[in-house]
Amino acid sequence: MALKTTQEYLDSLRKLDIKLYMFGELLENFVDHPIVRPSINSVAKSFELAADERYSELMTTTSNLSGETINRFTHLHQSTDDLVSKVQMLRMMGQKTASCFQRCVGMDAINALDSVTFEMDQQLGSVYHQRFRSFLQYVQDNDLVVDGAMTDPKGDRSLRPSEQADPDLYLRVVSESPDGIVVRGAKVHQTGAINSHEICVMPTIAMAELDKDYAVSFAVPSDTPGIFYIYGRQSCDTRKMEGSDMDVGNARYGGQEALVIFEDVFVPKERVFMLREYQFAGNLVERFAGYHRQSYGGCKVGVGDVLIGAAAMLADYNGAAKASHIKDKLIEMIHLNETLYSCGIACSCQGHRTSSGTFLINQLLANVCKQNVTRFPYEISRLAEDIAGGLMVTMPSEKDFRHPKIGPYIEKYFRGVQTVPTEHRMRMLRLVENMTLGCAAVGYRTESMHGAGSPQAQRIMISRQANLDYKKKLARVVAGIEEDN
Ligand code: SF4
Ligand code: FE
Repeated sequence: MALKTTQEYLDSLRKLDIKLYMFGELLENFVDHPIVRPSINSVAKSFELAADERYSELMTTTSNLSGETINRFTHLHQSTDDLVSKVQMLRMMGQKTASCFQRCVGMDAINALDSVTFEMDQQLGSVYHQRFRSFLQYVQDNDLVVDGAMTDPKGDRSLRPSEQADPDLYLRVVSESPDGIVVRGAKVHQTGAINSHEICVMPTIAMAELDKDYAVSFAVPSDTPGIFYIYGRQSCDTRKMEGSDMDVGNARYGGQEALVIFEDVFVPKERVFMLREYQFAGNLVERFAGYHRQSYGGCKVGVGDVLIGAAAMLADYNGAAKASHIKDKLIEMIHLNETLYSCGIACSCQGHRTSSGTFLINQLLANVCKQNVTRFPYEISRLAEDIAGGLMVTMPSEKDFRHPKIGPYIEKYFRGVQTVPTEHRMRMLRLVENMTLGCAAVGYRTESMHGAGSPQAQRIMISRQANLDYKKKLARVVAGIEEDN
């Protein structure tokens, strides 16, 4: 069976020769670093749950390539049921980690590349699909984590890739030989890149002919010479180095974003999935983005479940649970969260088979899903902060709480209802702080805005997919202006 254990995953990360910089230093051992480790634990959860019989039905499936049992994160969706199961799996992972668990970007990249490379080969007579499928077979057989790397730095947004003052602001091909290509550039805010075995690069926007050196897609091991990483800071990140799980709020799990630099990296020919076929770049971007916008209808909902639960617990701890406005706020949070889920499920149910056999989501509904995600988690967070109260941001540290002289005062004055220990109330407040303002806010609040594309990117897709002319015709027919034919 092609499934790694959690331990095997951790061991495999230790074997990678990753060049990671944080706070101006090259890290010797990133796996045990207190700032990085929670993000590794989040990815490791995808291995742990796959091995747990309570969750394995959702977390694993049968490969259409090998017939073997594989982790669903490495699967090509073979039906609309598969698309629905993906959303359910991401919601469950969000519930367990209350953070970004990172492995979805690779799943979304492989699904997008599968159908696009198939269509490229059909139209061009190329061999990209075959190359891609052998890469994917290797990923599935070894239960690997893949970083789906799309976002380029983009420099001056009013200029095309080839027009930028610095030609490296979009990742590009700098030379080519019979054996492969050499690429240079960077991918920004890469989710889980350091926790990945492979980096799967795709272009970031639709390309024109003059940009063809930027129309490139490939996969390379994450420790390939020439690749290095600069860790993204998160709010309150150094709290993780203080050794207080109580002050962190979510001590076990977290997300991870990094700047990934490609300094003249060699990519062997058999790992190149697009090389200057600029006319297919837009399609690849749209499909990857569509899948990832569907993903947000699962992961953010699961994280939202934890936040709603935390707000409800705080209402209990404060003795406010019976107040009608509190009940109403919790209902509003649930309504918003389930609306996000409904969109994730709907775009999956309305998916369709592509020519390669891999199923694609309904693009209009996936973009509506993500557009809602750019708004609702903000309102859910606002309501959680409302219910939590101001103590969430004025509370002393765990060290004060444990102090023999001042600790008892904190115990006494920060108690809510008499039956609940003050420590429970403080832990729950820190969890809400973590999810709305702290490290997990990267995976919940601001990522809800910009992850899988900023709001305007979805609005462009919504306007393209909506068929406004058809709606106008409906109106003309009903108004008696023209016949229904
Ligand atoms: Fe997965 Fe959500 Fe993180 Fe994207 S933001 S990688 S969909 S958990
Ligand atoms: Fe994301």
